[in-house]
Amino acid sequence: MNILVVNAGSSSLKYQLIDTETENVLAVGLCDSVGSPDSSFHKYEIGDQETKDQVPLPDHQAAIDEVLKTLVEGDNAPLESLDQIDAVGHRIVQGGAYFSESTLIDEDVIEKVEIVKELAPLHNGPGILGIRACQNAMPGKPMVGVFDTAFHQTMPAKAYMYAIPYELYEKYSIRKYGFHGTSHRYVSQRAAEFLGKPIEDLKIVTCHLGNGASVAGVKGGKCIDTSMGLTPLDGLVMGTRCGAIDPAVVTFVAQHEGISADEVLNILNKKSGILGVSGISNDMRAIESAMEEGNERAKLAYEMFANSVKKYIGEYWAEMGGMDVLVFTAGVGENSASMRAMVMEGFEDLGIKIDPEQNSKRGFDNEISTPDSTVK
Ligand code: ADP
Repeated sequence: MNILVVNAGSSSLKYQLIDTETENVLAVGLCDSVGSPDSSFHKYEIGDQETKDQVPLPDHQAAIDEVLKTLVEGDNAPLESLDQIDAVGHRIVQGGAYFSESTLIDEDVIEKVEIVKELAPLHNGPGILGIRACQNAMPGKPMVGVFDTAFHQTMPAKAYMYAIPYELYEKYSIRKYGFHGTSHRYVSQRAAEFLGKPIEDLKIVTCHLGNGASVAGVKGGKCIDTSMGLTPLDGLVMGTRCGAIDPAVVTFVAQHEGISADEVLNILNKKSGILGVSGISNDMRAIESAMEEGNERAKLAYEMFANSVKKYIGEYWAEMGGMDVLVFTAGVGENSASMRAMVMEGFEDLGIKIDPEQNSKRGFDNEISTPDSTVK
């Protein structure tokens, strides 16, 4: 079966065409600067050939049309016709409380995604545009919505409720939803498989540490708590997001800087975190280089990131009444041996030990704990 996977962002559209039998990726690409026709381009790989075309992409429909054309036209196109695409999978960021699993898309589903759009306007809007564009280009093609929030729908109310007046929850559905669910689900299942143990028997903490970052507690295969909230701003210190802070900071900064709450939120989303504290970059590699050169603020940002991860690990460990497995994934989690080591500093006293040699490796699934470690 050939599946086209579409991830529509506000100004981008990423995709892969996957043959599910062989698990081969037949095409992978990115349409960028969608909506800015003068600067938009389509970059893609088919086989070992990489191409970058400057093409005007005024909207998501144009991006989808361009992608589909690439898949069937030209000498090394992977398909002869769009009929060879069996289904389309759409990444949708916010599914609200409606979706606890991936769902076949129909008008009712689109309506619900539209209803929860208010909770994630920057994300769900493009998601709907991506769905509509595919419907227009391939009428009747089965399409599935895959939600970032779905895996976290098993959280109990005591974990997802905010201690604000209950009426605000009833009126506006203000609660924790959590994000990165597809990643937390995948790595928790993969870790159980890797260790050859049934996931039902495991208490797992998954650390998705990328530019955006979150931690989840997964007990018996079900998410019991996670660090992102109503929006992805909560939880860990991230590349440009502040993570958990006292909400009073918002009004304090608004009043003292003479700016609106929206402008403060923009600062907290885009100019804070590792970038804001270091004043250098949100890229962890740049921070590691600056630290090597003795930059104190880079070191502070790095330590704050590690410490925030450590705090959430401890939180979910306590909530689950133990931890059998700790998983690191995403750009920083997979690649930075020194960040993993810093997060785990002090854990030896709790019986958790990493093997420095195994920890220094990357690029494949690997057990980085010592054989006598109490947590894998
Ligand atoms: P997102 O999907 O949220 O944009 P990624 O999961 O792609 O983020 O992770 C991006 C982060 O991973 C960046 O901060 C980048 O610096 C970091 N990263 C990638 N490779 C390395 C590496 N070798 N060492 C340290 N950090 C790395």
